[in-house]
Amino acid sequence: MSQETVSEQDGSIEAGRPRRWGFEQSPVNIRTDLLTHRRLPRLEFAYGNSAKIELEYVRHPADEPPGLGVHRPEENVAGHIRSHDHHLRVGDADYVLSEVHWHTPSEHLIDGRTFWAEHHLKHHRVDDPGDALVVAVFWEAGEDHPDLQRLVREFPRCRDNAEIITVDSVDLTRLVPTERASYRYRGSLTTAPYSEGVSWIVMASPLTARAATLAELETDFPGGTARSAHPLYRRTIETDVPRVR
Ligand SMILES: [Zn+2]
Repeated sequence: MSQETVSEQDGSIEAGRPRRWGFEQSPVNIRTDLLTHRRLPRLEFAYGNSAKIELEYVRHPADEPPGLGVHRPEENVAGHIRSHDHHLRVGDADYVLSEVHWHTPSEHLIDGRTFWAEHHLKHHRVDDPGDALVVAVFWEAGEDHPDLQRLVREFPRCRDNAEIITVDSVDLTRLVPTERASYRYRGSLTTAPYSEGVSWIVMASPLTARAATLAELETDFPGGTARSAHPLYRRTIETDVPRVR
């Protein structure tokens, strides 16, 4: 295979050096002038309003997984949702929610713009657990989000003591915007092992939290927790966001 190189502008993490990743990596820069507008399978979030989330500090060393060269070590707080009560239907397909976690700044970009934060809701298909689907939601400063504040408050203790902390009665319905328009494409996990074959649904409307809450989230991991954008290559991004006239 030829040693293809990609430029910094393409968003490669290894600008000017041989590419080490596949052709369907995430995150990506979503260019709104290159979208495929079409009717998409309907999203039906059947999330509960009183979920238990187990916060756990996770860290992947710089050389994990082996063979991909040294990159930045990754750390974050993962919010496990152990009960299988929270579902997302995409058309006829039924997915169950298993985890939520936050990245600062956002990993996906819209026309090159980053948001203050982005969270990922990880799901797998009920009748095919190998089929992973992640819903991404952007955050910007605005109205208060009490549930985010309650969760973020626990992050330092979780990280410093490697302690699993349970937060009860989280309203998961408030972790997705009421406006359901989205961008959808095939990508990968954005943390080790960066497996491809992941369905991404990036919600077009951001959520808001107080600036102080988002700043707190950011200071927990001062180096940031966002992976750089990767080239789209031959992929297309589909959307049901109305066209701008
Ligand atoms: Zn993530």
